Amino acid sequence: MSSDCIFCKIARGEIPSRKVYEDEEILAFHDIHPWAPVHFLMVPKAHIASLAHVSEVHQPLLGRMLAMAPKLALQEGCQPYPQGGHRVVINTGAHGGQEVQHLHIHVMGGPRPWLKG
Ligand code: 5GP
Ligand code: ZN
Repeated sequence: MSSDCIFCKIARGEIPSRKVYEDEEILAFHDIHPWAPVHFLMVPKAHIASLAHVSEVHQPLLGRMLAMAPKLALQEGCQPYPQGGHRVVINTGAHGGQEVQHLHIHVMGGPRPWLKG
């Protein structure tokens, strides 16, 4: 846990969020500035700064997060594959467009046009 990290604060419940899913290791919540009709973020509750900081010990956690993304996307109103579907994005580092330094998976969907992406 990192004391001044905004997503750690959200994971601890110190900053409110619109929750999509929560278990011991993972929190999913709606993005505060959605680019698409459905746009939520999935984060590990433990502080991992970025995808570039992931190691072998994180593989089960990341596998679980990725496998969960399509299920949560449907739950949040994305249409099923293949006519619907969704986009999964992990911005990493400055050139990757990462603004919050706590690993997060963007899940976006719903009818186009979108604001971005
Ligand atoms: P990044 O550019 O790092 O991949 O994306 C960070 C995302 O976090 C942005 O889409 C931004 O809107 C979202 N975000 C930043 N601060 C907050 C917050 O306090 N609450 C929520 N729900 N989303 C946030
Ligand atoms: Zn953090």
